[in-house]
Amino acid sequence: MSSIKPAVFQTTLNEKISCTGVGLHSGTDVTMTLAPAPANTGIQFRRTDLTAHDIVPARFDSVVDTQLGTTIANEAGVRVLTIEHLMAAFAGCGVDNAIVELDGEEVPIMDGSSAPFVKLIEHVGVKDLTCKRKVVRIKRDVRVGNTDRHATLRPADTFEVDLEIDFDSPVIGRQHHRVRLINGAFKSELASARTFGFMKDVETLRSMGLSQGGSLDNCIVVDGDVILNEDGLRYRDEFVRHKLLDVVGDLATAGFAIEGRFEGAKTGHALNNELLRAVFADPDNYEISDARAPMPAYDVVSAAE
Ligand SMILES: [Zn+2]
Repeated sequence: MSSIKPAVFQTTLNEKISCTGVGLHSGTDVTMTLAPAPANTGIQFRRTDLTAHDIVPARFDSVVDTQLGTTIANEAGVRVLTIEHLMAAFAGCGVDNAIVELDGEEVPIMDGSSAPFVKLIEHVGVKDLTCKRKVVRIKRDVRVGNTDRHATLRPADTFEVDLEIDFDSPVIGRQHHRVRLINGAFKSELASARTFGFMKDVETLRSMGLSQGGSLDNCIVVDGDVILNEDGLRYRDEFVRHKLLDVVGDLATAGFAIEGRFEGAKTGHALNNELLRAVFADPDNYEISDARAPMPAYDVVSAAE
């Protein structure tokens, strides 16, 4: 028996929504507005503190720095820092198109996870546009890295992520987690996992003028065999879940939802970006085609009553 599946359409937000928070690295307050956008816009940032060259597209080929987060820039060198947790929320909630207005150069860190951004998206809700949704369908295995740290995208029917991390820290150690990003799994399994850092690195980062906005309110801080945050962890394996959240956010710069399976070990922003560049370097690796099924959490995201 055959059935004709209904077309799957691109999405955007129903209306604008704003928040204010501190930039993790700059330490300055920034106001951010998530706004609806027409089909085929993708996710674009707009620096409202500038009068020219203010648009920065969130695409893998606009990534210019991956040292402590994912930084993008346009041809004029205008930058936006720390986009990955917001990008993960868009991908995880099935938002294809949006304009992100910022009155500074860094996305606010909020609580260090994607949960506050998911909340904003859910508050305004997501709507269909009239253009069909496209996906990047992975056609053959593409691998980057070395024997220790590596990342692979391989063919699969849905978007799945699988990661192992191994830290020389008694509270982290070796952790492995795998998520199929369907039916709201991003929200329940990854969205609340916070970024983390080590006490021994804090002074170094601060002296370099980085992490000025970092605090126990937006970061898990590990000091030897102790977690300094009073309330402890949100998931037993919050560390690997956050690294998976970063993978989802970094892969969201592909410009389309991905139909494929990510498998990685000890990845970070640099390797995630290298993987996308490797995929798009050879047209035999992928095809851009109509989406076959609604994306991740789209069916569970609706406007607040
Ligand atoms: Zn992160």
